[in-house]
Amino acid sequence: MYFRCMLTMQDLNDPQSNPQTLLSCVRVICDASDYYLCVWNSLYPHDAYFDLAMLSKINHEFVAEGKLGLEFKKPKQLLTINTQYVTLLNMFYLEIKDILEGKKVYVETRRVPKLVFSTKAVMNHFDPLAVEFVSVDRFDNRLLNMRNLTTLTMKNCDLPTIPVEIGHLPIEYLDISGSKLPINQDTFWDWMSMTVICGTLATLRINSIGLTRLPFEIMFLKRLETLFATNNKLTYLPKIICELKILRSLFVADNKLVYLPYCLSRLYVSMDISNNLIIGTVSPNDSYLYKYIMELLTIQKIDVKNVVPSLSHLSLYSLMDNCVPFKRQDIPRTLWINLNVMGRCDVCKRWTQPEYCRVGFKYIVIHSILDGDKLGPGQLMTCRNEKNCKRLV
Ligand SMILES: [Zn+2]
Repeated sequence: MYFRCMLTMQDLNDPQSNPQTLLSCVRVICDASDYYLCVWNSLYPHDAYFDLAMLSKINHEFVAEGKLGLEFKKPKQLLTINTQYVTLLNMFYLEIKDILEGKKVYVETRRVPKLVFSTKAVMNHFDPLAVEFVSVDRFDNRLLNMRNLTTLTMKNCDLPTIPVEIGHLPIEYLDISGSKLPINQDTFWDWMSMTVICGTLATLRINSIGLTRLPFEIMFLKRLETLFATNNKLTYLPKIICELKILRSLFVADNKLVYLPYCLSRLYVSMDISNNLIIGTVSPNDSYLYKYIMELLTIQKIDVKNVVPSLSHLSLYSLMDNCVPFKRQDIPRTLWINLNVMGRCDVCKRWTQPEYCRVGFKYIVIHSILDGDKLGPGQLMTCRNEKNCKRLV
């Protein structure tokens, strides 16, 4: 009998270790007169075998709820099975119980190869059917062939690049926290512009990677529900984050945020904004939009009061409205800065940017995960030309 479950393998010799829970297939097989529990998952693509004679304890109290714990003496590991197939799990438990009681049980017979239990050594084993992959130290190009990959963990890795092709995989969960990224991160995020990952990625973890601003490409991830970007150097969240219409959880603790974009108040997002600089008042010097306008005034000597949208800006808006994910290299480099400062007018919802707007602050309700609802400053952008700024119904 062979069934799918979520399997957690805890090394009891190392209680500090972080056990992984992996989608796995488990079954009992027989070799000569010995019975083994056979585990197949992305960590053990060539199967791992646990000798049932080494079983020291069975936690079967919660079999009716789909949970079963198997504790082995050698290797000293606790395997916790979690499955929705309760009937199968119950049969599986009774099968193991019969084996332990010395009853003759008919199961598949197979020659058992030499056991492999060193987890780190097999971490990078490659299996094209795997749905989960954990990189130990660097990006592994072979994972681009894992066409079913939904979970990819590349924590604390050296990541000079992530190939754009990764965006062709149906990844739902991606974690690159703690990894070392290139200093010039410009093209690092191109993979976010690929249509497959735009439609699948639900959780992105980019904690502790030295980010100074969120990449604008994040707005293409239309399925994103949870974003972790804690312990970075973010001084603002771009308004384009509000293009993520189903974003529900935002973890941006331990950054340097002074305010939030006003448009966030229209999404119901639970946030952790602890350990930032959001204290209620914002000085113009703290605002990246003010800084951008000041630069236009003083360096480029632009009269922002009378400026009309340029053709290049209008074409950029049209690109955004057509929801076409693009790589930043596809547009002129001079427009890259616009992708950081642009957003929708908070009244008419048309795309705009600071030189065509009034920029101000208004308090918004922040749904804080830790301390409930509270007020904080939200940055507004509203068209300077009020004649054309009508609320869209
Ligand atoms: Zn407007």
